[in-house]
Amino acid sequence: MNKKIIIAALAVVLVAGGIKTASYLHEQKMIKIEQERIEAEKKKYMIGCKNDAKQYSYDAKKINEKLSKFDYSNDGKKMVFLTFDDGPSTTVTPEILETLKENDVHATFFVTGKALKDGGKTSEELLKQELEDGHAIASHSYSHDYSKLYPKRTLNLNNFTSDFEQANQEMKRILGKYFSTRVIRCPGGHMSWKGMDALDEYLQENNMVSIDWNSLNKDAEGPKKNAAQLVEVAKQQSKDKEIVVLLMHDTYGKEETAKALPDIIKYFKDNGYEFKTLR
Ligand SMILES: [Zn+2]
Repeated sequence: MNKKIIIAALAVVLVAGGIKTASYLHEQKMIKIEQERIEAEKKKYMIGCKNDAKQYSYDAKKINEKLSKFDYSNDGKKMVFLTFDDGPSTTVTPEILETLKENDVHATFFVTGKALKDGGKTSEELLKQELEDGHAIASHSYSHDYSKLYPKRTLNLNNFTSDFEQANQEMKRILGKYFSTRVIRCPGGHMSWKGMDALDEYLQENNMVSIDWNSLNKDAEGPKKNAAQLVEVAKQQSKDKEIVVLLMHDTYGKEETAKALPDIIKYFKDNGYEFKTLR
């Protein structure tokens, strides 16, 4: 009698154990499949650009270090970083993307969350195309609102980081949750505001980098210029610099920048520059 009960109980334990082991193994297998799927998704991007666009990209931190020391030398090796702020716009960005593709060169787009939102589906498609074409995507805040980011011309770190986080979410919504970028450009330029030490500390802790520029075509400064004038300014500004980080804008009203771009690219090609993106 006792023996029978023990044997029956043992059988129950063994069967239950077997079922439990089988379901455990199944669960482990499903976890592994999911992990592999996530890894494959992540591999599509390195931070800021597509994985197979890595060859055109360059460490933004190194460039920023040079810029902050006003040292634009690079052992005779010339590099130009074409950068476009405030986009995408449905009117100017498409022509810029076309020109970059025709010339087989790559740029860095400092986009704003607001521009992505305002441009609706068209802007979303433009952002996807920027990434797809091998350009780098960097963040230029969500709101671009100086009074929010730097009230009384002084950094408000909480406002700043939450605004950039909002821009991040917007980019992830469009490009997928595994997209991220470590490169930012402060609206108005890092150089323009007070209390930026707190931001530098924050960026350092989060392995991020803020980068300004050392040349510009002045498409957002002084009197409005036509394409030929923009080209001339870009040339003057870049003169004698082996490292050029050229600030331009691809937002609404910057049609002349799009028109100037083929000649600007030609100038850098003729002068032996390599075109790089910031990562
Ligand atoms: Zn801007």
